[in-house]
Amino acid sequence: MERDSFECVSSLDGIDEEEIQHDHQFESLLKSRNNVVPPAPSRSTSVHELLECPVCTNSMYPPIHQCQNGHTLCSTCKTRVHNRCPTCRQELGDIRCLALEKVAESLELPCKYGFLGCTEIFPYYSKLEHEAQCSFRPYNCPYAGSECPVVGDIPFLVAHLRDDHKVDTHVGCTFNHRYVKSNPREVENATWMLTVFNCFGHYFCLHFEAFLIGIAPVYMGFLRFMGDEIEAQNFSYSLEVGANGRKLMWEGTPRSIRDNHRKVRDSHDGLIIQRNIALFFSGGDRKELKLRVTGRIWKEQQNPDGGVCIPNICS
Ligand SMILES: [Zn+2]
Ligand SMILES: [Zn+2]
Ligand SMILES: [Zn+2]
Ligand SMILES: [Zn+2]
Repeated sequence: MERDSFECVSSLDGIDEEEIQHDHQFESLLKSRNNVVPPAPSRSTSVHELLECPVCTNSMYPPIHQCQNGHTLCSTCKTRVHNRCPTCRQELGDIRCLALEKVAESLELPCKYGFLGCTEIFPYYSKLEHEAQCSFRPYNCPYAGSECPVVGDIPFLVAHLRDDHKVDTHVGCTFNHRYVKSNPREVENATWMLTVFNCFGHYFCLHFEAFLIGIAPVYMGFLRFMGDEIEAQNFSYSLEVGANGRKLMWEGTPRSIRDNHRKVRDSHDGLIIQRNIALFFSGGDRKELKLRVTGRIWKEQQNPDGGVCIPNICS
């Protein structure tokens, strides 16, 4: 990770830093909400258990297989067991369990994010599809440059970024950052910085990084909203960098952290500074990168259409 090679000096326009409230952790949230969920009726629980693959314990979807003795298993596991039933060791053959497939079809199950607030109920076969898009599903950790497996709600992730990734959190809607790098000749895709802003009662991630477009080294700054795509549309932001009477400016809509960091970067949806210009803006002998990036986040008028349009600028 290249984080250490970047120094970020931040000054906020007269706004005191505040302790970020993080009064609940995701695990405890999960636990406490689980406690109040009434147990599912036992009939559907037992049918649900039948639909659990005895080998990998995932839910089974057609084609569901069974051995000559009736032991079931999922299609993924079937390809792995070399034609032996994992339960009775008999030859597996190629028998489908149509009855169980039909039973599954008749089932309706609540979304697995019920404990986070989703109240929807789905036919068995469309439940997975919904869960992949459920607006209550937890968010992935927005810290880029590492494969961080942490998921959770926004307050949990804000605390996680601060405590585990040592990310700076600032209160306020304007910012003035100085990015300093001693050897700007080395541009690697992993080089990046993250700062979190708390304004309008929401959290925003400001990313700054160096990467290559083709063979051209560039620096890029962009903002992501810690929340879903629809809510992100309520905000706009600007980034500005310059020196010597020249400046580059970017105005855009923050992307949701549902869009992963790499996707946003690769769509070039942010302020892109070519290295030559970045060194020009740094002044001096072009041996050190010293960029002053100023920016602002503001609230847009509510859009009655509420449509989501995510641009792919480089397409
Ligand atoms: Zn399985
Ligand atoms: Zn068997
Ligand atoms: Zn849901
Ligand atoms: Zn993380």
